[in-house]
Amino acid sequence: MRKSCYAVLFFVFIISCKEEKPIGWIDYERLTHREVKDWLSLGGDHMMQHYSPLNQITKENVKDLGYAWEYDASTIIGNVPRGLEATPIVVDGIMFTSGAWGAVYALDAKTGKQLWIYKPEVDASYGRRACCDVVNRGVAVWEGKVYVGTLDGYLICLNAENGSVLWSKDTFTDRTKAYTITSPPQVAGSIVMIGNSGGEYGVRGYITAYDLKTGEEKWRFWIVPGDPTKGYESEEMEMAAKTWDPNSQWESGMGGTAWGESAYDPELNLLYVGTGNSTPYPIWFRSPAGGDNLFLSSILAINPDNGKLVWHYQTTPAEIWDYTATQNIVLADIDIDAKQRKVLMMAPKNGFFYVLDRATGELISAEKYTKVNWASHVDLKTGRPVLTENGQWYKDKPRLVVPYLGGGHVWQPMSFNPTTGLVYIPERAVPQVFKSFDTYNWLPDVDNTNLDYANMFKFKKNVADQIKSAEDTLRSESLLAWNPVTQKVAWKFTEGGPDGGIMSTPDLVFQGTRTGYFNVHDARTGEKLKSIFTATGIMAGATTYSIDGEQYVAVMAGYGGAETSAYLPDGVVFQYENKTRIIAFKLGGGETPIPPKKKPIETPAPPDTKIKTELLAKGATLYDFYCFICHGDFGDKHLSQHPDLSKLTPAKHMVFNDILLKGILSQNGMANFSNSLSEEDVEAIHHYLLKKQIEGYQKQEAANK
Ligand code: CA
Repeated sequence: MRKSCYAVLFFVFIISCKEEKPIGWIDYERLTHREVKDWLSLGGDHMMQHYSPLNQITKENVKDLGYAWEYDASTIIGNVPRGLEATPIVVDGIMFTSGAWGAVYALDAKTGKQLWIYKPEVDASYGRRACCDVVNRGVAVWEGKVYVGTLDGYLICLNAENGSVLWSKDTFTDRTKAYTITSPPQVAGSIVMIGNSGGEYGVRGYITAYDLKTGEEKWRFWIVPGDPTKGYESEEMEMAAKTWDPNSQWESGMGGTAWGESAYDPELNLLYVGTGNSTPYPIWFRSPAGGDNLFLSSILAINPDNGKLVWHYQTTPAEIWDYTATQNIVLADIDIDAKQRKVLMMAPKNGFFYVLDRATGELISAEKYTKVNWASHVDLKTGRPVLTENGQWYKDKPRLVVPYLGGGHVWQPMSFNPTTGLVYIPERAVPQVFKSFDTYNWLPDVDNTNLDYANMFKFKKNVADQIKSAEDTLRSESLLAWNPVTQKVAWKFTEGGPDGGIMSTPDLVFQGTRTGYFNVHDARTGEKLKSIFTATGIMAGATTYSIDGEQYVAVMAGYGGAETSAYLPDGVVFQYENKTRIIAFKLGGGETPIPPKKKPIETPAPPDTKIKTELLAKGATLYDFYCFICHGDFGDKHLSQHPDLSKLTPAKHMVFNDILLKGILSQNGMANFSNSLSEEDVEAIHHYLLKKQIEGYQKQEAANK
């Protein structure tokens, strides 16, 4: 430890010896006895409540909250601004956080001045494998080191002082499968754990633990079993395999990926990890004989010393709707039935709010926090959901299900406020028609969910009235205050797309929105006390800290591919340039700078090419399967951050084949598709796009006349 001693001579000698911690020094003593000035983990401290006791900003003075500084956290690769999802960590006045692809920023938290930046050397082709943008959900800071996972699968340990790489580990077991990392690392005991993403693409999920100091691999916990004829890696996999058909579609990997915010209880020495959905979604293809399919959609408690499972709880047995249990895990000590319980809380996608005993995994309660029609209730004796008619297989007929595959709550952190006893959840319920294809075969590097999206929409049109009435009764979106003891809604705030992550202080709740506002609410009533227009879509949860006696609130602002990739038309991202940045606010602050308005992009004159109409149908199908997820629809319906491909310049048309098959724009983040598409396929897509461009150009010229 460095010691800085100051001797001051005045009328008397005063010698003050202050022990200064090295930069980024967080240990268990500090984490579990947080000084209120700091925000030491993604959730604030070891309880991961996304709560701070700081209370300089109050209900009375929050009207004076304004802009303090901003930091440009924009493009690392290419020129398309990407989504920001991390909650910054602040210790001793220094902010550490992550951005697109796994970049890391260290800033002076008082001024926003950059101390250092870590730009990972990421293989940009992995962008194609990220279902929901090349995001990163945060870093871990521990004893002078900063840990981050890069999109292409490396766990990097950085020196907190200068950002230099201390060690780097390849965490992927198989690079032919579409694994990515978007999740934060979690420190537990003497290890740092990292999971992965790619459930929709057909990978086999696992987490790996590395020695905090040396990076030596300590253990790996597979979340779902592999082909039983090849043997089991662990007792846990042997046990899980009993809940799968031995003739399952093992090639599909089966998913279960852990990509959310974990937690660690140092007293119980338990690491808590939430697991994801499977590929394909329909169980009748992946595990034809059925079964619970452990450990999909589960909460796992693991001993970090040896990687052994201590308890598990599966939220959605035999999951078929993308109901992940990767949502943020919150620990709390609360009184239930006049007894203090050490609990773990989660609001997973399936719509039920779970309170578990975090020592034993005992289910304490599970009540609907949003609209749910796939299950009537959770049987507290068996711990299992009781399915309704809507919750039956959508094998023979499409089913209208709520929540949709985006869930009642996705990754945006919820917050527990021990002062009010309430949990604040960014809640959204949307009904969805589920329909699968009639056959299934795993394919590399593509969505392997087996949902028949095109026909799901067709079905939707056929029963428009039914859907409309269902949407009226089954749709909801709110900032919701939930009482985990009474299992009831305390209040709801529904205006203005309240879908960002949440942070709370004793009297206040802070939340950004896709519509570009940063709002502050009364924690007891939900009343909106302050609303700051930033013109930037905000998805991440905020952080709060204090420097030199001043309280700051900071949030990562920048839109891009939420978990569902569902851009909603009211997103501010379609009106203003998506200036991805960290914005800090304080009392007496100024006006928040607004990025420039978006200029409409003209459709260039299409090249003089004769359209091969016989290719159009094939081109449309390929576009929907491979391109739509990023580039979206055309013209007025283009709700995407990525280029509208009906507006290609003559130069892009010239090299169209090389973009797709040689990856000449890979450094801009545009992947190489040569392992999925042939020259004939690319020609079909090109002619389909040319047709769209001709239509768009004619429309534009007619309007200009
Ligand atoms: Ca998923």
